[in-house]
Amino acid sequence: MMLFLLMMSPVRAEWAGAGRPMMGTEVSVYLWHDDAAVAEQYIEEVFAEASRIDELMSTYKETSLISSINRHAADEPVFAGDELFNLIRRALDISVLTHGAFDITYDSVGKYYDFHEHRRPDDATVAREKVLIDYRLVELDDVAQSVHFKKQGVRINLGGIAKGYVVERGIDILRRNGVQNAIVTAGGDSRLLGDRRGRPFVIGIRDPRKDGEVAMSIPLEDEAVSTSGDYERYFEEDGVRYHHIIQPSTGAPANGVHSATVVGPDAVMTDALSTSVFVMGVDLGLRLIAGLPDYESIVIDADGRIFYSDGLQPPPVAATQATP
Ligand code: ADP
Ligand code: MG
Repeated sequence: MMLFLLMMSPVRAEWAGAGRPMMGTEVSVYLWHDDAAVAEQYIEEVFAEASRIDELMSTYKETSLISSINRHAADEPVFAGDELFNLIRRALDISVLTHGAFDITYDSVGKYYDFHEHRRPDDATVAREKVLIDYRLVELDDVAQSVHFKKQGVRINLGGIAKGYVVERGIDILRRNGVQNAIVTAGGDSRLLGDRRGRPFVIGIRDPRKDGEVAMSIPLEDEAVSTSGDYERYFEEDGVRYHHIIQPSTGAPANGVHSATVVGPDAVMTDALSTSVFVMGVDLGLRLIAGLPDYESIVIDADGRIFYSDGLQPPPVAATQATP
């Protein structure tokens, strides 16, 4: 509705935006600039950056460096380069922080899923492979910037953190070019730059069970927000929903929560933390967030109940104070 009004306006629209299918989802850029041609150029730069990162970090591309790590790192240390090495390092740090709820080695089981084809690993495969889900099997050499796996069969996948990295890098590009108001989104991960020119951006959190509906909206400025849900990639079989977030301790899709949203200053963190809170569930998840002063969370459980971290608790009766 808003976009329609802008397009119909006689004044040239100064919000520019575009979306593109990438990384198995959609990447979109939305920014304010007084020169539409320049805005267009910045948007292309962000897409180019997303595609560069995908070429480096996608396990779905045989030619990516991460695929090469997955093929060879059990035999010998593989050089990862600054950027990939640092993101793997951050992912492993978050594994420590979340006591293993976030674990990029989930992929030894994860690789058997194909959500398009409704394919999943059978119980024997899960039992055999889940012993390989353990971030401590990934050894990093800071000097050589290399990655080594301590066992054959270990695989890493940055699907739970790379989109946050993409939006963080995208916003960096815009900020360096002097843009002051923007949103970059990749799937469930967004990073906001500034505000909507005088008022906050309003971010909708999807209703996990009503397609196209919003469970709630939150006003935000200058922050990152990520949502992990069991509705993004899944299929159902005999009433069981098989989705893309794996509980490392069982090797099965995590259950108990329908969606977990995390808000905070850094999209790499909100991305990884939303996946983590999803895996940990309401109690442990919100306890984790309570220990991170800059981060807040909203969790929707399997009964549709909504839980907030302490910093987001709605004020008890403040909403009625204006009533005469
Ligand atoms: P989305 O991809 O919808 O933004 P998430 O940020 O929650 O959702 O990331 C889910 C992705 O994270 C999965 O598709 C998979 O690639 C990866 N993943 C699944 N389980 C785990 C886990 N326990 N730890 C780390 N990454 C995971
Ligand atoms: Mg995530």
